[in-house]
Amino acid sequence: MINGLQIAARFFTERIKMNRLNIIPQPNKITYLGGEVSVENAEIITQISDALAEEEYVLTVDGDGIKLIAGSEKGVFYGRQSIAQLGKICPCVRIEDKPAYNYRGFMLDTVRHIISIEDTKKMIDAAASAKMNVMHWHLTDDQGFRIFIESRPEAALLGSVRDHSGFGTLKEIGEYSGYFTKDDLREIVDYCAERFITVIPEFDVPGHCSALLHAYPEISCKGTPVKVKTHQGIFEDILCAGKEKTFDIVFDILSEILEIFPSEYIHIGGDEAPKARWKECPDCQKKIKELGLKDEEALQGWFTNRIIDFLEKNGRKAIVWNESLKGGNLKTTATVQKWMDRKNLSSDYANAGGKVIISEFFHYYCDYPYGMTPLIKTYNYNPVHRGVKHPKNIIGVEATIWTEYINNFDKLCYQCFPRFTAVAETGWTLPENRNHSDFIRRFMAYTETLDKFGITAAAPEEWNLSLLDRLSKSLAFANSIRHRS
Ligand SMILES: [Zn+2]
Repeated sequence: MINGLQIAARFFTERIKMNRLNIIPQPNKITYLGGEVSVENAEIITQISDALAEEEYVLTVDGDGIKLIAGSEKGVFYGRQSIAQLGKICPCVRIEDKPAYNYRGFMLDTVRHIISIEDTKKMIDAAASAKMNVMHWHLTDDQGFRIFIESRPEAALLGSVRDHSGFGTLKEIGEYSGYFTKDDLREIVDYCAERFITVIPEFDVPGHCSALLHAYPEISCKGTPVKVKTHQGIFEDILCAGKEKTFDIVFDILSEILEIFPSEYIHIGGDEAPKARWKECPDCQKKIKELGLKDEEALQGWFTNRIIDFLEKNGRKAIVWNESLKGGNLKTTATVQKWMDRKNLSSDYANAGGKVIISEFFHYYCDYPYGMTPLIKTYNYNPVHRGVKHPKNIIGVEATIWTEYINNFDKLCYQCFPRFTAVAETGWTLPENRNHSDFIRRFMAYTETLDKFGITAAAPEEWNLSLLDRLSKSLAFANSIRHRS
């Protein structure tokens, strides 16, 4: 028998269900107007208004249909992403929405394992639907150089090939090779542009350059042969900062990168550059003395600044990983990407007026298992980190995926989703409008959108494991990456 209270409760629950939207990222202001309408095949009337910011949109869904007003075509695009998630029947609503951060990125490492153009497009589709606006493309590293450069063809022809692969227990017999032609790269730039995503290429220097040094050993400190690496790690042979030839090659490569990629920002790496070679290299030591630098870290600062000058002369800006701050002399026009920064130099940098992007290792590195980085940890992370006095200098967030241990698209999707989408929501939705359990509810509906792109997320039971499962999965991962070959 059902009593009055139960009927009221059921009615109330139904109302709530009916009145909830499943949009990802969560819009920043939703006003329910009462009632519901069928939006299947509804006409969308769009209008551009100068009164709204570039990425802002206002969406009204009622008996008269769907009206979308936006600050620009980009805003229209974002409004349409929300419309696509309304379902067939939706409550009458007014959505007033704009992003929390200007920079909402995702990074793909297409070096350790190549992510095909076709699969890259699927990732772009997913990012665009979650209103991300930057794809950071990691194209060069120790294990491969994956851009074809006409003036320096050896970089890709020799540097894209490794003998075999042995990333922990993930071993692949035989040669592994491949690089992108300019047409491939432009195809992705165009595909992104149609979705209001900027591609920021990364040419990582002076460290993570074994593949480039394999092609041009003369720009290492020792000048002896360097192999394209077959396993994960940090390697001591880096670009020599004391030889002029190094800059000739770096600028030749960058010149062609600038031709292909129209982005305002170019990523020039700067992470994990051990100084053992520079300490013993007569050319590097001579340069330190000549310039009156305090040490090898400051030499990296000088090296990086010279490349920043080159970019700026060409009308571009640089992004660098946070290690570039160690020398204390980085140009303040660089934007710093924070990933692991024990001394919190990036907070000092932001406080001094520098711009910082957040890709915190323990929260946003999606190549680590859910045991180490459960969804709730990624989702709840506040990018305005400890010690930041000027939150406006944190310009945004970026989820990253490194592919040492990922050699197929299913695994890539499993690692990235839902965590990439969680970072997208942090980039778009104000902290007061974010809620982890509500995100999970909405993500369940969002898997239909991902299905359309050919993306399958990790199963819900994987997202937030019990403490015991977290420990065992983290240990298993740690064991699997211990091996080298
Ligand atoms: Zn040197």
